[in-house]
Amino acid sequence: MKVRLGLFFVASVALLFVGLTVQAQDLGPGFHKIKDGIYTFAPDQTTTTCSFAVTEAGVVMIDSCNSPLDSRRMAAAIKKVTDKPIMFLIDTETHSDHTGNHFIFSPSATVINAEGAGAGMRKEYNPKRAETLAAQSPEMREALKGEKMIPPHIEYKDRMTINLGERTFELIYLKNVHSFADTAIWMPKERVLFASSAANVRTFINLRPTVVLPDVIASYKLMKSLNPEVVIAGHGQPTTTIIFDEYEGFYNLLMKRVGEMAAQGKSLDEIKKELKMPEYTDWQGQDRLAVNIDAAYKSVKK
Ligand SMILES: [Zn+2]
Repeated sequence: MKVRLGLFFVASVALLFVGLTVQAQDLGPGFHKIKDGIYTFAPDQTTTTCSFAVTEAGVVMIDSCNSPLDSRRMAAAIKKVTDKPIMFLIDTETHSDHTGNHFIFSPSATVINAEGAGAGMRKEYNPKRAETLAAQSPEMREALKGEKMIPPHIEYKDRMTINLGERTFELIYLKNVHSFADTAIWMPKERVLFASSAANVRTFINLRPTVVLPDVIASYKLMKSLNPEVVIAGHGQPTTTIIFDEYEGFYNLLMKRVGEMAAQGKSLDEIKKELKMPEYTDWQGQDRLAVNIDAAYKSVKK
């Protein structure tokens, strides 16, 4: 009996240990373990990231993943790590590659983003999204079961703090940086920052007309001032504050060049034809230079 109890004890401790140390590779390709209980799913350099943090009181997710297939992978990964429910799903922006798959996690998740997020999602909602995706494959069609748009249940203004279990999540509204409502999520104890799509990883961002470059640069200064150890951008692999320096350098140089050409009397179209950024030829999304010039032109003409 004693031996059996001993064996039982050893087995239980081993199980507990296994439960606590789920490695990223156990969750599948594209998963990264950021810290104990914090994981990011970043399939490649450009695909939308989505993440989760386990607490004693449940799970907090950041973004709902790029495609419903990715979201199903995410849901399966969370189940491997914990049997606790997903309590909150925080969006870092309004675009459908981050918000289109809320339905897979909610219920149970309460969806949160900054003020204006629901209106932004409705404005950009593509009623054909599910139909178009479903045509890709039978697996995708299956993953789309129950598809519907779920705008945030809670919208906050400027700042919001979520205390769940042993963890704290500070939500910070970033103005004019990417979509209709952008949120950075700061975990002060773990020093992990989810930076939204204000910066990505060495990729030209598809800057919408609402983006204001000086506000974007201000958001970098704010996020850097938190002194994070790990930075998770809206797209790309986990990184550090180096992305804020890289993008700040890029936008400053772009605004300088656009400003000089505008001062020479060149039109926006002429600038778009002539301006090159040879220092950044290794960045992805080169075809987006034109919309970056639009944003820079708007800033220097102010
Ligand atoms: Zn976006």
